[in-house]
Amino acid sequence: MNHNNMQKREELPGHAHLRKTLDRLHKTYSACHEGNVATYIPELAKANPDHFGVAVVGIDGEIYEAGETSAEFTIQSISKAFVFGLAVETHGRDAVLKRVGVEPSGDAFNSLELRSSRKPFNPMINAGAITDTGMITGASVKERMNKILCLLSDAAGRELRVDEGVYRSEKETGHRNRAIGHLLKNVDLIDGEVDEVLDLYFQQCSVLLNARDLATMGATLANLGTNPVTGKEVLSFDSVRDVLSVMFTCGMYDFAGEWAFRVGIPAKSGVGGGILAVINRQLGIGTYSPRLDAMGNSVRGIRLCTDLAEEMGLHVFNFTNAGSSFIKATFGKK
Ligand code: GLU
Repeated sequence: MNHNNMQKREELPGHAHLRKTLDRLHKTYSACHEGNVATYIPELAKANPDHFGVAVVGIDGEIYEAGETSAEFTIQSISKAFVFGLAVETHGRDAVLKRVGVEPSGDAFNSLELRSSRKPFNPMINAGAITDTGMITGASVKERMNKILCLLSDAAGRELRVDEGVYRSEKETGHRNRAIGHLLKNVDLIDGEVDEVLDLYFQQCSVLLNARDLATMGATLANLGTNPVTGKEVLSFDSVRDVLSVMFTCGMYDFAGEWAFRVGIPAKSGVGGGILAVINRQLGIGTYSPRLDAMGNSVRGIRLCTDLAEEMGLHVFNFTNAGSSFIKATFGKK
């Protein structure tokens, strides 16, 4: 389906091939029941473990999908990539990098450790993400949340909202994130009220979306910051470059190095079960399956993306050129 323009575009052989591939991989990994739904935020434990969807959106706005692509879940850590982009957009790269590094940490996402320079390792672990959230400007938490929600909604191409149940659950049980927030305040990385920043962070993690939204958000990043379905400019090219760079090196928790090596595309996962991946200048991929591995990544999502990248030659350092011929076959002259 192409929401973008009036005329129906010709179905190229690559379109049908991609649809078939997604159907096949979805079927293959539907049979995988490894991993567990996250329970440390009690409300997340209510997710249906069998839900599984994958969507791909091209920078021409074309959408390909298989499985439960409208099933909603919370964005969780995937929001970190966009809020980092918003902080860069608002204050400039240098101001953000004064507070947050861009080094992979090798530690768990909720680590309390700061670098020796007394700043968080990177924007994808909670300490870095909470610092970025603290840089979002606005007179009230409501106004700041509205900015974040607008950014995420513009990237997804539809109005998103906060899941109040998950938000309350995060707020009630987020003691570790509170500890991180106060540690950041102690080293002057948070200017305002630490409780307000945490409140904002819990809300941003609780935004509801589906696999199709994630793929569209990925396509927005792939399309240099402009949503290819709505045509709306969401982030500047400079911010997108920074976002994709940290996604590439730090986006998949403690699996980030393996992922960059094996799959070779910028991506970000969240404990809600989503993975957003980006093929620069080509397409966005969104997967949803809430059964997670020990590192917090969706088991089916990882496997499906690994196979898709392998079969389609999507790895950024792929030398066979299969990727570009796939892209040509699928998206015509692009
Ligand atoms: N709200 C979650 C937390 O901070 C996000 C974690 C995640 O998705 O990695 O614990």
